[in-house]
Amino acid sequence: MSADSKLKVGILGATGAVGQRFVQLLAEHPWFEVVALTASDRSVGKRYGDACNWLLRGGMPPAVAEMTVVATEPAAINSDVHLLFSAMPGDLAGPLEEAFAAAGFAVCSNTSAHRQDPDVPLLIPDVNPDHTALIPFQQARRGWARLEGGRRAGFIVTNPNCSTTHLVCALKPLHDAFGLVAVNVVTMQALSGAGYPGVASLDILDNVIPYIGGEEEKIESEPLKLLGTLTGDAIALAGFVVSAQANRVAVRNGHLEAVSVKLKAPAALSDVAEAFTSYRGEPQRLGLPTAPDPAIIFHTAPDRPQPRMDRLAGGGMATHVGRLRPDPLFDYKFIVLGHNTVRGAAGGAILNAELLVAQGYLGNVTSNE
Ligand code: NAP
Repeated sequence: MSADSKLKVGILGATGAVGQRFVQLLAEHPWFEVVALTASDRSVGKRYGDACNWLLRGGMPPAVAEMTVVATEPAAINSDVHLLFSAMPGDLAGPLEEAFAAAGFAVCSNTSAHRQDPDVPLLIPDVNPDHTALIPFQQARRGWARLEGGRRAGFIVTNPNCSTTHLVCALKPLHDAFGLVAVNVVTMQALSGAGYPGVASLDILDNVIPYIGGEEEKIESEPLKLLGTLTGDAIALAGFVVSAQANRVAVRNGHLEAVSVKLKAPAALSDVAEAFTSYRGEPQRLGLPTAPDPAIIFHTAPDRPQPRMDRLAGGGMATHVGRLRPDPLFDYKFIVLGHNTVRGAAGGAILNAELLVAQGYLGNVTSNE
């Protein structure tokens, strides 16, 4: 795609922790150009540089700093934009994302609002790229047909919870090679996962908080849809069980997860290691711009992966697996690590959009084809 044919995109909730990651990751993107930024009434009408308390290293992209934040409503976005990335608060996102889709926008959402809708793909391009086939059924069922003037029809695609993303990227090769019966996971989740300002410093310093509201339910349910089977206009859920315990720890970025798995078919430890090291998914085969290669970084050092040391490998898009060993209760146990606001949030949604371009769901919308 040449520079002058980049797809014009917008970011909903652009001033928040995940919205800033979108701005950062899209600044030099070869296919997408950010032309619209939305936030709450607090920010509307301000320069992005004034409305946003920039939290990321490397500084705010200068061109974006000069853009004016607009309202989070379809009429505020120019009609030459087809693709929107959503980083709105989950409790507001449901009806707003539907309003944008009904108005003809393709919404790649980070929020939990529509993840479990039966006609909305819950997507990780490495794991279930075929689930985008739900999109035409979603559009037909909801009446989001092609709009006047030949403008494309809207739709919603979601990416999973940040802990689920890395857990399922690690489970996928095992599910394919051996089948899964049961998964137990204990998470140690970074502070940035709570947004900004997030958890009060006096609550988390010298402490671990053994509760993150709603998180365990998401980690227990989302893998079953992601690893489920497309059956025409629906997804048949995968048949294994997940038990999750979620904890907040005093790490800035990078969720660590202690995982135990019970497999359907017997497997030697070397077979399990081989499944991780040899895994290549659709994004790697397609050479999508944001795809890490390898998708899974397999560690043999006894004390890796670690958040501070490893979270930025593969541009923050890789999933790390380490400490693979037999488990006396299940079959095997291992550690998973991944960046929560890159692959677990904004980067995951951008990779979804890249897959949608490769599959033909997002065309050259600048010409309103
Ligand atoms: P955040 O830092 O609190 O940011 C929220 C954003 O939404 C801000 O841009 C805010 O704008 C905007 N907003 C607030 N109220 C609004 C309203 N009434 N109308 C329109 N926009 C409004 O939250 P976050 O951590 O970035 O999370 C955003 C979403 O991503 C959430 O649904 C979250 O669950 C999900 N997510 C987060 C992570 C993570 O690691 N943080 C990972 C995966 C998914 P103002 O600045 O103007 O208030």
